[in-house]
Amino acid sequence: MIGLTGKTVEELMTEWNLSPPFRARQLFKDIYSGTDSVDDMSDLPKSLRNELKEKGTLLTSEILKERISCDGTVKIVLRFPDDAVIETVALTTDKGRRTACLSTQVGCAMGCRFCHTALGGLKRNLTAAEIVEEFIRIRQKNGPISHIVFMGMGEPLCNLDEVCKAVGILCDKDCCNLGKRKITVSTCGVVPGIIRMAEEKMPMKLAVSLNAPDNEKRSQLMPVNRKYPLEELKRALLLYQDSVGRRITFEYVLIDRFNDSEKDLENLCRFLHGFHLPLVNLIPWNPTPALEFKSPSGNRVRRFMDAAAAKGINMTLRRSRGRDIEGACGQLAGKAAAR
Ligand code: SAH
Repeated sequence: MIGLTGKTVEELMTEWNLSPPFRARQLFKDIYSGTDSVDDMSDLPKSLRNELKEKGTLLTSEILKERISCDGTVKIVLRFPDDAVIETVALTTDKGRRTACLSTQVGCAMGCRFCHTALGGLKRNLTAAEIVEEFIRIRQKNGPISHIVFMGMGEPLCNLDEVCKAVGILCDKDCCNLGKRKITVSTCGVVPGIIRMAEEKMPMKLAVSLNAPDNEKRSQLMPVNRKYPLEELKRALLLYQDSVGRRITFEYVLIDRFNDSEKDLENLCRFLHGFHLPLVNLIPWNPTPALEFKSPSGNRVRRFMDAAAAKGINMTLRRSRGRDIEGACGQLAGKAAAR
């Protein structure tokens, strides 16, 4: 395949021995324009187009399924040539932004007990090219996208090199021209990745899936907490905050009678102490078959939010979009037979 090789302009220039240099930019622009056909690249010389054709197709994935939710959320199921299947979603946020929720891995190794993606384990990492292709495919179905969240299948900080490379391409003015500040990486708490983001001053926004504010409960829910307990996570996050100077968002999946008590809020308050304007994004647990948790009632969610406000916690409710098409948080399973 030629197209979304995840190559930057400079790499393309060297690999293809292109001159003059503007040819490399043209090629880059054409490759990432989202076209499936080399014949559309009329600004390239015929010889180069022929060379491209010999190398194969531009986009390698096939859209297996496409579903549109009653709330306008679009979900696509993509299959790559090695039969790897992933899901990608586009949704409108409360702020009216059209956001793509991209996967970074085929499956996930982190084993969070409340998450459907975890059930199948990890198959492999996605390459930068495949991540960019996801974006292009969802844009083909959805139309313009202004923001990206790496909150689909997988743990982005376990595939950080490819994620960074994809971000570089997505933000290139000749590719998707997104602002780096419009991209959010969400992690379950992989401490070495957070430290690397801090040390390299990566410009993407950081969100952390906290979900339970004490080690005992968090380790029950998220095996990653046994390796990187809350104290260590907090140290890394404060380092990130200090070196990058950006506020951190905390995701909190609310599970009925598991992490929705007054005591949980007290622990949450304690954990958040020291962060600059922390924002907690509350996500009522989305049901998924085979998992035994319970979604909290609207009343319990409200009570939890009121009690949080009384403690001075800045909390917003993430309204679950795309639940009817299994496109909401934690429902992406990457099944070829996905409905
Ligand atoms: N591995 C990264 C990226 C996945 S993001 C991370 O953990 O942050 C997926 C988000 O959805 C996480 O915040 C996760 O806590 C949340 N989530 C997972 N399963 C869910 C479910 N069933 N209901 C609601 N949120 C869920």
